[in-house]
Amino acid sequence: MSDTENVLLAAVNSQFIHSNTAVYYLYQILIQNNIEADVKSFSINDDKHDILSEILESKPKVVCFSCYIWNISYVYDLCKALRRIDKKIKIILGGPEVTYEPAEAFIQSGADLLVLGEGESVIVSAVLAMLNDEWPTCPGCYYESEGTIINTGIAVTDELGKIPSPFTDFMMEKERNKLIYYEASRGCPFNCIYCLSSATTGVRYFPLERIFSDLNTILRYSLKVVKFTDRSFNANQVRTLEILDFLKNVKTETCFHLEIFPAGLTDKVTETLAIMPKGRVQLEAGIQSVNPITLEASGRIQDAIKAISNMKKLTGNENMHIHLDLIAGLPFEGLESFENSFNKTIDAKPHVLQVGFLKLLKGTTARNIEGYEYEDSPPYEVLVTPWLTFIELSEIKQIEKLIDLFYNTGRFRTYLAYMHEKAGNPYHVYKELALYLNENNFSLKGISKKNKYAALAGFADKDSIAIEHLRYDYMTSYSSKDIPEFLGETFSKEMVFEHLKNDAIVREVFAEQEITSPKKLYKMCNVSRFNYGKESVVFFFNYSCRDKVTDLYSAIPIQI
Ligand code: SF4
Repeated sequence: MSDTENVLLAAVNSQFIHSNTAVYYLYQILIQNNIEADVKSFSINDDKHDILSEILESKPKVVCFSCYIWNISYVYDLCKALRRIDKKIKIILGGPEVTYEPAEAFIQSGADLLVLGEGESVIVSAVLAMLNDEWPTCPGCYYESEGTIINTGIAVTDELGKIPSPFTDFMMEKERNKLIYYEASRGCPFNCIYCLSSATTGVRYFPLERIFSDLNTILRYSLKVVKFTDRSFNANQVRTLEILDFLKNVKTETCFHLEIFPAGLTDKVTETLAIMPKGRVQLEAGIQSVNPITLEASGRIQDAIKAISNMKKLTGNENMHIHLDLIAGLPFEGLESFENSFNKTIDAKPHVLQVGFLKLLKGTTARNIEGYEYEDSPPYEVLVTPWLTFIELSEIKQIEKLIDLFYNTGRFRTYLAYMHEKAGNPYHVYKELALYLNENNFSLKGISKKNKYAALAGFADKDSIAIEHLRYDYMTSYSSKDIPEFLGETFSKEMVFEHLKNDAIVREVFAEQEITSPKKLYKMCNVSRFNYGKESVVFFFNYSCRDKVTDLYSAIPIQI
């Protein structure tokens, strides 16, 4: 076997900004075994012709694609085209989208070999077999030999510490300025019926020394965000505290995204999270539903009330961005139950509330529940459940769009908090807003910033306090002095200058900043009085100072 055979590991990501760590694991294993390989990253938004040219440019003998729900159709097209262009090239596919129900992926792609499960223990045998016109016999392979389908089962990498680290300068240089995914463990202690992590049992961990060494390499590249892919980052308290401690003490502007199991947060972990430097970590937590029957039937055993109360404590600290997830379409969750889950979850005041729709993925037990209808092709989203009609799911879709367009931007924070409180039922606010937008011909597609504020101002139906909140939100979001008229008045230029002559005010507003002339300071601020019923407050907005977590400009109340 020559050591100069050419293997290309191709990642086709959902966006240019994403990276794929899996191919770099395989790359390291191949080169450790003296098999020449390279990695190329693409995105599904790239022109297929360009991708094919780039793949063929390096004249590979074997091309491996990693397949996920977001790229599978695209990869099928690439495989078929490669076959037509050069029949000698061997094609290997791996990843979750070919592991479960491999027969379909094998036929659709026309690949020579599928790698089922985790590829680290399979890739060398698979590649060598392809280069030598043989078939591999190790676990984790699916192929056709002499008219017979051979399936050697799903491979699982036993000792994670033995796999070479992919986080080398080779990967970091190639993926510079992209979103890097990092795993400190694989698997999940839970068994949610809709999740692929439930297909393997238990959690396997990478050794802590290796994690700290990897993180030190990653930190040298000053990335904006590093996303831990651990399905329940806080599954093991001792390790969680050690990693959090490391993240707390490093000197960096990088933000680490952690996916946690919210009901499992211990006091020690919550206390450590509370003292993280502002913006150092961001949390994503799956609430999914607050209906105990739904949670039990979903295999997601968690005390939802405890989960929400834990998250409320953390949002109150304001030192990290918090993202909560709900899933519509779970067993035993009808519209009324979903509304309750929505209202209780938004009450924790997350920065982002993601309303997802159940996906009935290959390999998950959710696929076997009677009465569910779902799309035939990826992402296999639910269409009907025994508890929700298509129309009811469409209502939730509408709410989800409005949440994304308004709530999740963080640009309407105080207005929406006020409207939620006033209605006593946040779900109804979005339901009514959907009707209002429809009746008043507001199209959501490409809606401008100004029209979003106009829509919410109209929806407030002359509630002057709501408009005050909306102007406050506008002024913390945008530094322009051109405030739409329907949001009310701000101080005139002369009035602002008058206050900028007051030393005490200037010191309070521009604390820790170099104080320059009133003319220069004027460019960096705006001022308005807000009348909230009997209460009236003047806010100075400092446009040279943004919050690291919310990205909003600083607003300082001033006694005038
Ligand atoms: S949804 Fe989350 S908690 Fe449930 S099995 Fe999957 S990874 Fe684990």
